[in-house]
Amino acid sequence: MNQRHLIEQLLDGMDEVRPIVLAARPDDMELRTTTRDMIAALEDIKRAPAIPAPTYTWLCQLTAKLLDAEHGALLKPNADGLIPDAASQALQQHFEQRQMLLMQALQDIPATHFLLDQSSEMIGDKAHGDTSLQNKAKHLLKLLRDHLQHDTDLKNEIQQLIEAFNPSFSALSNLLEQAGEDSPELKQAQQILSQKLPDNIDDARALLQSAHQSILQAGTKLVSASAKLNETMQEQVEKLSSLSSKLEQAESEARNDPLTGLPNRRALAEYLNDLGQNNFCFVVIDIDHFKNINDTHGHDVGDEILQQLAIILQTNIRNTDLAARIGGEEFCIVFAAAPVDTSYTLAEKLRLSIETHTFTSQQGPLNITASIGLAEHVAGHPSSITFKAADKALYQSKRNGRNQVSTAAPISQPE
Ligand code: GH3
Ligand code: MG
Ligand code: MG
Repeated sequence: MNQRHLIEQLLDGMDEVRPIVLAARPDDMELRTTTRDMIAALEDIKRAPAIPAPTYTWLCQLTAKLLDAEHGALLKPNADGLIPDAASQALQQHFEQRQMLLMQALQDIPATHFLLDQSSEMIGDKAHGDTSLQNKAKHLLKLLRDHLQHDTDLKNEIQQLIEAFNPSFSALSNLLEQAGEDSPELKQAQQILSQKLPDNIDDARALLQSAHQSILQAGTKLVSASAKLNETMQEQVEKLSSLSSKLEQAESEARNDPLTGLPNRRALAEYLNDLGQNNFCFVVIDIDHFKNINDTHGHDVGDEILQQLAIILQTNIRNTDLAARIGGEEFCIVFAAAPVDTSYTLAEKLRLSIETHTFTSQQGPLNITASIGLAEHVAGHPSSITFKAADKALYQSKRNGRNQVSTAAPISQPE
């Protein structure tokens, strides 16, 4: 390598070293001057045809000064331009220390590897088989970033969940309140979850666990409270249903005859009222010599006859008609929307059914007859007039020998 080439290498090196040196000691004016002088000298040497000996000496001195800038007093040259022994030893020591540090770093590498593996396992991912420390470090960094990112995602998700859960708190509180239960646990949980989650994941977890516990406690309370509520409701439902069946019974008793189950006078009056101005025929039925049955067979047998007669009446009328018990052994039928001749046919059919029916009793079979009076209602008249007319016709049947149907004379049209 010729001198020129060496000088050019030195110049290139100086160019690289200069900014580093100046940056290391920005206030050192002497260093600046030295560096500038060195470069100028090197430029001169480069231009010169050959380097003279004194120039070499000077160059050595300047280089030593530059090194001195880095190592301080270490490289103070002698007057002859050589490095003194002490400085040389100090320099040696300096290098040795650096060497030791390097060795130490080399020994630390396996420990670092171990730490890396441990960390990777803790995060839940195994570092890949790359043995290069740099790659492992990069991978660890990525794992840590992912972990942190995952942590943030998790926290966001939890926060969203909490926000979604918040409205349920008031519903739960209301339910507990309705069940007569206080819910301090719920309030506590709500209070905990209304705070911003701490950044530290352990603290956040502890907070969530405490809220979770409170919600569980409130849930247990709610379950027992709702069971209690259910029990009370069940009791009330039972009370209500027994009350309503009693009411039904009272209603039925108020409108039905207890012995035969037929509608009574009150129900008859309501029925007639509902019929309004529609035409109908009124039939009154009275058992013939009923007193004799009672006297001969007893009152209970008389009752049995009355019950069975009620069934005969019920089965011989249409859905729109009404059979009622209006007295001891007196019954009536309202043939709705039936003209008098049709009603007479129906009444006659009924009379025959009674006559031909064999009644059963504790005293054996029995036969009875009944007398019937029929009257046609005239629209505009009070129904009591029709009733009286039918009763009069019944009296006629009795007088004519019983077991027959008599029709009342037509009632005159109202004015
Ligand atoms: P007739 O009508 O043919 O003139 O003779 P009768 O014997 O039926 O005459 P009356 O109407 O005077 O007698 C009715 C009897 O009915 C009198 C009463 O003891 C009896 N009676 C009334 N209600 C009941 C009852 O609920 N059960 C029983 N067993 N008998 C009753
Ligand atoms: Mg009678
Ligand atoms: Mg009678």
